[in-house]
Amino acid sequence: NLGTPGPRTLAPRRRSRQIRVGKVLVGGDAPVSVQSMTTTPTTSIDATLQQIAELTASGCEIVRVAVPTQDDADVLHVIARKSQIPVIADIHFQPRYVFQAIDAGCAAVRVNPGNIRRFDDQVGAIAKAAQAAGVSLRIGVNAGSLEPSLLQKHGRATPEALVESAVWEASLFEEHDFHDFKISVKHNDPVTMVQAYRLLAERGDWPLHLGVTEAGPAFQGTIKSATAFGILLAEGIGDTIRVSLSAPPVEEIKVGMQILQSLGLRERRLEIVSCPSCGRAQVDVYALADAVTEGLKDVTVPLRVAVMGCVVNGPGEAREADLGVASGNGKGQIFVQGEVIKSVPEEEIVATLIEEARRIADERPDL
Ligand code: SF4
Repeated sequence: NLGTPGPRTLAPRRRSRQIRVGKVLVGGDAPVSVQSMTTTPTTSIDATLQQIAELTASGCEIVRVAVPTQDDADVLHVIARKSQIPVIADIHFQPRYVFQAIDAGCAAVRVNPGNIRRFDDQVGAIAKAAQAAGVSLRIGVNAGSLEPSLLQKHGRATPEALVESAVWEASLFEEHDFHDFKISVKHNDPVTMVQAYRLLAERGDWPLHLGVTEAGPAFQGTIKSATAFGILLAEGIGDTIRVSLSAPPVEEIKVGMQILQSLGLRERRLEIVSCPSCGRAQVDVYALADAVTEGLKDVTVPLRVAVMGCVVNGPGEAREADLGVASGNGKGQIFVQGEVIKSVPEEEIVATLIEEARRIADERPDL
C-alpha cells in the first residue's frame, strides 16, 4: 500500500504497474476504468459496432468481444478499426486467434489459462507478437474454467487455486520478459472473489481487473458487484472493473460508473439527492426524482440536485446541493447554490429544476 492516497478515507491505492489498453492506461495512477462486453455475435459486425457505440455513449472505456470461432477472428480487424474505444479480443481456446487479434489491431487480448494452458509452448511467440504490436494481455482466470489439476489439488475453486493459476500463467509470460498484462481472478461468490484478489495483490504489482463473474440478473448482480468491488477498492485494490450482469451491457456501465463515483474514485456527474419520502411528504417524491433524473440523464458535468419531499430536511439538503427543491403546501422552493431563487407551483417543479440545472451545467467545463 505505497500508492497515491485514495479519496477521503479509502486506503491508499495499491501501487500497480501501469499498462496500456489502446488509448486507456490501466494501473499506476490512472483512474479506475470501466469496461463491458458485447452480447451480439461478433460476426454480426453492424450489430456489434452499434452496441459498442451505445456502450461508448454510456461511458464505457474499454470493450471486449468474444472470439469463439475462426469467423469471429476474421472480423476483428473491422471491429477494432471502427470502434471508438479500445477493443479486447476474448479468447479461450485457440492460440492462433490470439495472433490474429494482435494483427487485427485489437488493443488487448484476454486469455484464459484454464483453457489455453495446453498451449503454453506458444507463450513466447504470443509475448513477442504482443510486444511488437504494443498490445497488452489479460490473464483472465475464472472459477468455472479452472485447470482440472488445480481443482483436484484444492478440492474446488478456492481463492488459493485461482491465484495459483494466475501466478503460474503470469510467470510464463514474465520468463519471456513480457510484463504488459493485467490479471483477473473471478468467482461468482463475492467473498471468495475478494479473498482471491487480496491474495493476488500480495503476490505482485500486476494491474488487476476486478469482476464477480456470473453475478446474476441486474438487481442481484449489482449488489454482489458493488459489495465486492467496494471492499477491494476501499482497500486500494483494483485498476479496472467489469460488472457482469444478465442484462444489457449498458446497464453494466451505469452500475460500474456509479460504484466508482460513490467511492469518489471517479468524478461524480449527475447526482440526485432525493429523500425516501415519509408520512410528511407533500409531493410524490418518487415521481419527482424519476422525472428529474430522466430529464437530466445526458448531463456530463458534475451536478448535485436535491429533491426533497417536505420542509423538514428539504431546505438543508437543497442548500448543500447545486440546486434543489424543498416541497410543501403545493409549492416548491427552488434553491440555487444555497439561495432560494423562487417558489413555483408543484406542477412546475420538474420543468424549473431541469431548466436551472441545464443553465448551471452549461456554465461548467465538461469532464
Ligand atoms: Fe420525509 Fe421530509 Fe425527510 Fe422526505 S425530507 S423523508 S418527506 S421528512
